[in-house]
Amino acid sequence: MIDNLPGWDDSARVREWPGLPAVTGTLRADACVIGLGGSGLAAIEELLDRGASVIGIDAGRVAAGAAGRNGGFLIGGPAVPLAAETPGWDLSDKIELWRRTRVELDHLESVLGSTIITRCPWINIAGMIGGPRSAEEEAWEAAEYARLDADRRALRRIGIRAVEHADPLGRGFAVPEQARMNPAERALRLAELVVQRGARLFEHSRAKVIGPGRVTLADGAIEAAIIIVAVDGRLDLLVPQLAPLVRTHRLQMLATAPLRRRVLPRAVVSARSGYEWLQQDAAGRLLLGGGRDRHAADEQTPDDRPTAPVQDWIETVVGRVAGPGVPITHRWAASVGYTEDQRALCVPVDEGVVAVGGYSGHGNLVGPVAARAAVAHALAGEPIGGWFRSTLP
Ligand SMILES: Cc1cc2nc3c(=O)[nH]c(=O)nc-3n(C[C@H](O)[C@H](O)[C@H](O)COP(=O)(O)OP(=O)(O)OC[C@H]3O[C@@H](n4cnc5c(N)ncnc54)[C@H](O)[C@@H]3O)c2cc1C
Repeated sequence: MIDNLPGWDDSARVREWPGLPAVTGTLRADACVIGLGGSGLAAIEELLDRGASVIGIDAGRVAAGAAGRNGGFLIGGPAVPLAAETPGWDLSDKIELWRRTRVELDHLESVLGSTIITRCPWINIAGMIGGPRSAEEEAWEAAEYARLDADRRALRRIGIRAVEHADPLGRGFAVPEQARMNPAERALRLAELVVQRGARLFEHSRAKVIGPGRVTLADGAIEAAIIIVAVDGRLDLLVPQLAPLVRTHRLQMLATAPLRRRVLPRAVVSARSGYEWLQQDAAGRLLLGGGRDRHAADEQTPDDRPTAPVQDWIETVVGRVAGPGVPITHRWAASVGYTEDQRALCVPVDEGVVAVGGYSGHGNLVGPVAARAAVAHALAGEPIGGWFRSTLP
């Protein structure tokens, strides 16, 4: 039996979260935001900035989904590499998304401060963490290193400092000015701040029917001219018009007991083509995840519970970094949306209703950028940039 509790929930801010009421009866506001993860909370900030009254609802706790259960890396730019030709993408769109995600990171740092948003360098490692251990691993590593090196040069061309990196963990590149966080703390603090600014937030309030001007729940309804659906995983089930564009996948992680040694001098945002990521927190715990590709068919599922085969693979990674026998304290999973060309969605789906999601595993900053674009479109008719997919099939 696996508990499915994220290692992030050990923090005092999460343990002491007092909770929010559930919706009862019919409520009214200028706008309703469905989903209180990092994206929905950015939509609420944007609506408040633009003078709208807002109600926000979540089916569970604030950041009950991927937004509170992820790797904690504030990843800039698109989910596709900057250097490679990628179908569906213009280079100028990739660059613009880099620019906007950096603005979003600065904003988060300014409102949340350095106790929640920690600036730190990250590394991208070619191949398996800890270096290749077979001829097959050596071949992958060499091929991926060439791709990473092209990306490093492309990042430098757009003004992002990226430097060659090699140490016993592997070789690739480091980006000195990056950031990580406890994702659940980020969302809970943002929720407190928007409530202080007048937003009305509700937990344990699942939207059942979403239509123009009205969201229907089990015990009530919300009437609002503008509705922003900010749900990444299972968006295809909640907004069926988007099912041809986005698929729900499961991503899994685990946390170890605190280690006596610092085995990870730098956080690793990506190893083995992004299929693994890991960091060691101040207490010495490793928080790491990955392995989706090892059981790819099983992981394309709306089921968000961890599974033994993927967890076993992540433990292999723990072994490579920290040796055998490290106790595992938490195992968890969550749902995210993947799109075919890894362009996120910001799609008007009905009169006054805009849905955002499909961040392909990179939603911590791209999600808020998409959510702000959705608000700007719904409230002020601003066009949605080509860095998002904005049309139904
Ligand atoms: C294990 C893992 C590791 C990851 N690592 C990273 C990383 O390091 N960096 C990065 O950038 N991205 C990462 N991602 C992706 C990132 O977590 C997501 O893209 C991002 O958190 C999505 O946030 P969101 O607010 O858009 O949506 P979600 O987190 O999906 O939030 C949606 C919210 O909506 C609620 N909800 C769902 N249905 C309803 C309904 N019917 N009514 C009301 N509420 C509803 C849910 O309870 C949830 O709280 C990772 C994802 C996972 C799972």
